Amino acid sequence: MHILIKEETILQKVKEIGQKINDDYQNKNPIIIGVLKGSFMFLSDLLKEINIPVEVDFVSVSSYDGKKSSGEVKLGQDISSDITDRDIIVVEDIVDTGCTLRFLLDRFSELKPRSVAICSLLNKRDARQVDIHFTYLGFNIPRVFVVGYGLDQSNKYRNLNFIGVVNGK
Ligand code: 5GP
Repeated sequence: MHILIKEETILQKVKEIGQKINDDYQNKNPIIIGVLKGSFMFLSDLLKEINIPVEVDFVSVSSYDGKKSSGEVKLGQDISSDITDRDIIVVEDIVDTGCTLRFLLDRFSELKPRSVAICSLLNKRDARQVDIHFTYLGFNIPRVFVVGYGLDQSNKYRNLNFIGVVNGK
């Protein structure tokens, strides 16, 4: 396993993003929507840095089978909150082609939230197929398949406390 981003660096960045959210959402009581499964560890650390009132919800989507994209985005568990007229912050682990996020944003916008912010820990900029504007972004990374800190390869490695690349991949 090759370490791409170590725990200390991730946590420093998560702290900075949390502080920005605290500044930007005073008195707004936003709904933070974690995109499962990959965002669970990022979301958990991020929430610990947030000291304003927030609500938390989850949505699950899948577009990847192991390492290879199936090219199709499927909705699993939907949100349970009413997001109409609310400020929402969608929290993703990684944005690759952008298709997953586009699918979610289109869905959420039909429900007429007051505002939508996008927060992703990782971005593979060179892989973008659709235009995504990040409100909060952790790291730009090269177009390699990464695991750890919530991210999996065939459901393994989610528990690692760093972001890494499996050797020889
Ligand atoms: P997109 O729709 O932007 O192409 O892909 C987004 C989803 O694909 C992410 O939420 C994540 O589940 C998965 N994904 C994309 N790149 C990687 C990667 O390098 N490693 C892992 N583990 N998942 C990835």
